[in-house]
Amino acid sequence: MANKPKLAVYWAASCGGCEIALANLNEKLLEVLEHFDFVFCPCLLDTKYKDVEAMADGEIFITLFNGAIRNEENEHMAKILRKKSKILIAYGSCAYEGCIPGLGNMYHGDEILKAVFIDSPTTENPNKLLPMTKTETKDGVLTLPAFYEKVKTLSMVTEVDYYIPGCPPEPHKIWEVISFVVEKLSTGQSLPPKGAILGAGSSTVCIECDRKKENKKIKTFKRIYEIIPNSEICLLEQGIICMGIATRDGCGALCPKVNMPCTGCYGPPEDVLDQGAKMIAALGSVLDIGDTKGLSEEEINRRINEILNTIPDLVGTFYKYSLPGSILQGKIKGR
Ligand code: SF4
Ligand code: SF4
Repeated sequence: MANKPKLAVYWAASCGGCEIALANLNEKLLEVLEHFDFVFCPCLLDTKYKDVEAMADGEIFITLFNGAIRNEENEHMAKILRKKSKILIAYGSCAYEGCIPGLGNMYHGDEILKAVFIDSPTTENPNKLLPMTKTETKDGVLTLPAFYEKVKTLSMVTEVDYYIPGCPPEPHKIWEVISFVVEKLSTGQSLPPKGAILGAGSSTVCIECDRKKENKKIKTFKRIYEIIPNSEICLLEQGIICMGIATRDGCGALCPKVNMPCTGCYGPPEDVLDQGAKMIAALGSVLDIGDTKGLSEEEINRRINEILNTIPDLVGTFYKYSLPGSILQGKIKGR
């Protein structure tokens, strides 16, 4: 195809899994190349930032931006790519919701740097040096991007057209989005409204999960290594926290299929603002604290807390992928 539309893929604060998911398109990648010219993709091409900065505004047709915004460089590239792209897609959970890097929002930025560069047993740093944004050397000034106090999602720093959820998004869903866009382009149809979620459904993972759902009454929560769950019954009914009821469908219930709970990587379902809050609310109705008739409020709370205390890491459980984009946005101690 002559004059193919341009495609960019960028990584900010991420693990690289979204690139692997793209590589897992396998031979379908050749079809992507039939329709698009890859013009920027740091893990594949040696295109420099200055090459992107020199492009005309809107010259890139689609940018798949993965990774959260953890530092000044991430934000700079988000803004440049916004300007240079007709369509900017938050691709994957980090760009969409902050994901695992976002759990850093439980701490101050300087606490994180200290933990990594000074207190870590695997870092040799006898002079206890911390990264500096500017360092004078005999050959000139060396610079590093400033590390932000908080992780932000892509939409917190620039306007986003669409979102593809998942940690990482499933390759067949990425392909679905690419073919959808190609079809719309080739038939002259308009694309979905701004802000739409692509490559996923609007309901929950439970819809895609074929385990038997009978009676959700939970006396105690168990961690996955404490039992071998029955492979036919809903994991939540067996006391394992499965985020399926508060997670958007689209992955095909991959984790419950292999006897592992959903940890929520596809983000909240349609019309749910806060995935963790949704899950907590859902659990509130299934805790089995026995007959409460005649019990004092204190005793009821004690029983509820006894069950809730069996959940080891509340934020890591309910906000594993969504903390920066949630209502809480991370609790920084002392604020
Ligand atoms: S809570 Fe988990 S195991 Fe239960 S039906 Fe939903 S996805 Fe399946
Ligand atoms: S089951 Fe949940 S955690 Fe597993 S891939 Fe699907 S959305 Fe992600």
